[in-house]
Amino acid sequence: MNLQTYIRPYIDLIDTLRSVGIQKDLALPTIVVIGDQSSGKSSVLEALSGIALPRGSGIVTRCPLELRLRNVTGGVSWKAVLSYRKKKIEKTIIEFGDPSLVEKHVEEAQNELAGKGVKICDDLITLEVRSADVCDLTLIDLPGIARVPVQGQPQDIGNQIKRLIMKFIEKQETINMVVVPCNIDIATTEALKMAQEIDPEGIRTLAILTKPDLIDRGTEKNILAVVQNKVIPLRKGYVMVKCRGQQQIDEKIPLVEATQIERDFFQNHDFFRPLLDENKATVKCLAIKLTQDLVSHIKKSLPKLDEQIKKQLWDVRNELKECEAGPPQDLKGAKQFLIKILTKFNDKIKSLSLGELIIEENLFVQLRTEFKKWNDAFIRILFSFLYEKKNPSCSQQVDSSKELSQNYRGRELLGFSNYRVFEMILQDRMAKLKEPAIKSLNSIKGTLTSCSSSSQQAKTEQRIMDQFEMESMIYTQDPIYLKFLNEISSEKFSEAQLPVFDIKSKYSEMLQAYYEIVVQRMADQLPMLISFYMLKETAQLLCTDMLSILEGANVSELLFEDSDVSKRRKYLQSRLGRLTAAQEALSDFI
Ligand code: GDP
Ligand code: MG
Repeated sequence: MNLQTYIRPYIDLIDTLRSVGIQKDLALPTIVVIGDQSSGKSSVLEALSGIALPRGSGIVTRCPLELRLRNVTGGVSWKAVLSYRKKKIEKTIIEFGDPSLVEKHVEEAQNELAGKGVKICDDLITLEVRSADVCDLTLIDLPGIARVPVQGQPQDIGNQIKRLIMKFIEKQETINMVVVPCNIDIATTEALKMAQEIDPEGIRTLAILTKPDLIDRGTEKNILAVVQNKVIPLRKGYVMVKCRGQQQIDEKIPLVEATQIERDFFQNHDFFRPLLDENKATVKCLAIKLTQDLVSHIKKSLPKLDEQIKKQLWDVRNELKECEAGPPQDLKGAKQFLIKILTKFNDKIKSLSLGELIIEENLFVQLRTEFKKWNDAFIRILFSFLYEKKNPSCSQQVDSSKELSQNYRGRELLGFSNYRVFEMILQDRMAKLKEPAIKSLNSIKGTLTSCSSSSQQAKTEQRIMDQFEMESMIYTQDPIYLKFLNEISSEKFSEAQLPVFDIKSKYSEMLQAYYEIVVQRMADQLPMLISFYMLKETAQLLCTDMLSILEGANVSELLFEDSDVSKRRKYLQSRLGRLTAAQEALSDFI
């Protein structure tokens, strides 16, 4: 099968994934170029891509540069797109058709991102080149490792560069292309050490040996042993390349010619000639090897990528559910959304006021305790005379009723009673009930502050006072009174006999009978008044108020949200978009 048609879809797939921004969510297979300064990184990239990259002495590559090489056929002319994001916000895109402008545009982009001078920066510059002369590869060029800071560089520049390199090479998804010149001690190369640190078995490390034309005579055998993987074994092995030297660049020797010169160099080399047959020499061989490596690496990564995308999609969808749907953008939808929210709120208020909503610290749990307190206080006051009879030491009530009978005694002889006296005692007792009633109302107010308005509270208080006013009238229907009287007395009374016989000795029973009636009436009345005016009516008023919001409302203003939830939702939605696009792109390959 044609190599191009075989590899291209995979490289395009990764590009598609990268262009939807999926690298923010997961690492993508990439080739990263690392090495010491002046080891020949840019020369190798240049030879691979046919593109003249910024070169020179000192630190030239100051930002990670992603080089996307796309082989296009059919008489399409050379075309490049350079893009970068300053501070990850505004995106700059520059398109051009002249290969000689690459250096200038890359330098300008670096100056934008890292500032003019010798500082470095983590922001990625992407250069996509479409041409008939390039291979299908995506590589990232990184700043070279510097040992000593130069004028204007921070003291820790070496560590800064290493940290930047680490960030790229530590990802399991990258192939590390380590560029090492032949004319130094290969084993002590910093870049190779870093690669070994994060990939001890050398599974994803490939070494490129440069400058074979500059080696010391006599070291050839040692170097050959290194290339043949006998010294520092790497699974992906070594490739030796010879790029243009400074002199050839100055003489403007074209890349095509340089390729020929490279081939001649190896063919004529006494020691390195066998490397040609072993596919361990020349840039061309490197290009094929890299592409194959990248594609097999991509293939291997696909199931894992797919799994990661699925898992993240699942998580994002779940998190989005927790965020709840936001308001729709169109006016009609937004209005419907508002109505829905208000109705939901009203339903909640209603069920809360009816005690249907079972939540922790349920309102009715608290109310019930308050009502119970009220009921207990009420009974204690009304029936105090019963306890007093048994325990005269605390018989204040008895005293006052005695006093009352003295004060209200008319011209009647002893033994005859005045109904007024009976009534006064009852009224006095009723008045004493006001205080506990107001007390329990007040503590209920505390519980309900958040759900009832002060006007509703005043209304409730007024209704309770009215109730006490009514109670001071002393009234009950005869049959009810008689029923209670008979229940508590050992004697039998009848309606016919009662009005005729005025039996003073029965007064305490008659009082008790009436109190029983009052207890029945009032014990329920107060809670009912509170429930009605402070809860139900408040809830209804609240619902009406809520619905009136809809009238002439500025819907978008009402629905405007600047909360963390909306920021989170936006973030999750963009992730969902990326992941969905990625999954779609991937579905053809899995
Ligand atoms: P970088 O700093 O790693 O990007 O290194 P460069 O690619 O800029 O190369 C540094 C210097 O080494 C340049 O002057 C290149 O021309 C030179 N150079 C690179 N590769 C070779 C090679 O194979 N042979 C010779 N003679 N010089 C080379
Ligand atoms: Mg360079």
